[in-house]
Amino acid sequence: MPYTQLLPWYDENKRVLPFRGTRDAYAVWISEIMLQQTRTETVSGYYTRFMERFPDVEALALADEQEVLKYWEGLGYYSRARNLHKAAKIVYQEYGGRFPHSHETVRALPGIGDYTAAAVCSIAYRLAYPAIDGNLTRVISRVHGIREDVGIPSVKRQIEELGKAHIDPDRPGDWNQALMDLGATICLPGTPDCARCPLKEKCDAFLQDDAELLPVRAAAKPPKPVPMGVALVTHNGKILVQQRDAALLKGLWVFLLLENDDTPDGLLKKLHGMGIEAALKSDLGEAKHVFSHRIWNMKIYHFEATEVRKKTGFRFVNSEELAALPLPTAMKAARKRAMELLNADIE
Ligand code: SF4
Repeated sequence: MPYTQLLPWYDENKRVLPFRGTRDAYAVWISEIMLQQTRTETVSGYYTRFMERFPDVEALALADEQEVLKYWEGLGYYSRARNLHKAAKIVYQEYGGRFPHSHETVRALPGIGDYTAAAVCSIAYRLAYPAIDGNLTRVISRVHGIREDVGIPSVKRQIEELGKAHIDPDRPGDWNQALMDLGATICLPGTPDCARCPLKEKCDAFLQDDAELLPVRAAAKPPKPVPMGVALVTHNGKILVQQRDAALLKGLWVFLLLENDDTPDGLLKKLHGMGIEAALKSDLGEAKHVFSHRIWNMKIYHFEATEVRKKTGFRFVNSEELAALPLPTAMKAARKRAMELLNADIE
């Protein structure tokens, strides 16, 4: 059995994390959603703050979405926060605030995929579902010597099946977390530290000396660069913001953005179309933000509005209001410059 030494190793070496040690499904769910695509060290602070403000399903379900997004600000992948909020409302309304207990019902909640359902059910309810994330995929593919592209559906299924076959039925949550820890501290991408690994004697990749080549993955497409004009439009000591409607960053607040055109003329035309006449005041430099599939190459300009004919589809806010709105990390550089403009206006 390749995993015999896994749980004894985990008992001695598990990472101490603020979201560990609980079997409260709500708490496990919040931490697992935060941990998707986000580093463990980053999650710790966010998790503590989030749980203080939203300690249970009811608190989250009754909160305003904008506040939830504000607590998520900086974590990225904001659809996670919107789905958390939606799911909390369902649990509150349909399950009387008690997190559902079967894998099927947990999996049916918004934003919960196979991985999260398995993590919640194994940790909170001791149900034997392997939580196959990047770490588990890497470790399992190495231990069992899977040398095909792990992105292929049949190979994914094979890894899932191996997980199901080997998960510890008495301690499934610990088994999942042990593999997560092993993947995060020893069985690292690139060069694993096999000498320290409790599984090495039964690990196919270690015995074949090709762990560094596994898992096999087809090269990911590089993110596509997108030119983006960013207008900081001031008017009577306030600045223009809009709430995003597009799928990327939906619900968050941004300055006026113009995709695929980073020129002042393009931004002035867009403003004109919104019923705003403005004059270019200064070029505030560039900023870049990398998403998973695209890179925003932003050019930031300051405009002063000279005429505002309409007031729909945007808001003018002062520095305090701006600080209270949930803005994505992509707006970090622009927000800093916006604050400087607003504060200079006050002085
Ligand atoms: S022996 Fe090496 S490759 Fe195998 S599971 Fe351990 S760290 Fe990973």
